[in-house]
Amino acid sequence: MTDTARLLAAIDFAAKKHKDQRRKDIGASPYINHPVYVARVLADIGKVDNTEILMAAILHDTLEDTATTTDELDQYFGTAVRTMVEEVTDDKQLPKEARKQAQIEHAATLSEGAAMVKMADKIANVQDVMEAPPSGWSQTRRRHYVEWAATVVSRCPDVNPRLKSHFNQLAEQALRQINQD
Ligand code: NDP
Ligand code: ZN
Repeated sequence: MTDTARLLAAIDFAAKKHKDQRRKDIGASPYINHPVYVARVLADIGKVDNTEILMAAILHDTLEDTATTTDELDQYFGTAVRTMVEEVTDDKQLPKEARKQAQIEHAATLSEGAAMVKMADKIANVQDVMEAPPSGWSQTRRRHYVEWAATVVSRCPDVNPRLKSHFNQLAEQALRQINQD
């Protein structure tokens, strides 16, 4: 399979897995818009052209939010992609608050590819919290989210300065915007 065919297979797989899910914004955007945007951030801002990292971005929420198994990811996309997706997957056994704390603690241990996916995911989510936040979130909750995301990103290894500095600029902009909303 060519790199293009493998990337398209990942997009097709994720689109089917997320087909009945929506994001939390007021317009209930199709879920797949988010992983596609995360992959785009990696390519456009992070200048990432490694197909497996882009595939991991496309697939990054399948284990956490759909019935996908690690065996499926292994079988269809290989061990490297499966491992990166596992690395960015929260342990759903933990209560929410502990999961947030675990992300902070695990950030420094992420592999190069998983750290890039993690930073691009936080860029996408902070952008959403600024422009299309989950319905019902107060200013305080939006601000806390941006601050938590900034802590996670600050602890990611320095594997892609473009992504980290873009995140930092975006987080500052988001905090200014949220204070004005
Ligand atoms: P959630 O983790 O519940 O929601 C944020 C996550 O939802 C994102 O990380 C993203 O994850 C996904 N998501 C889907 N749609 C959107 C969207 N439009 N914009 C942004 N993210 C979206 O929320 P919190 O981060 O606030 O964490 C929940 C914890 O916060 C709980 O422990 C709760 O008790 C507590 N809490 C905090 C408050 C506060 O003021 N800070 C107030 C109330 C509760 P992904 O990319 O993985 O899909
Ligand atoms: Zn995500």
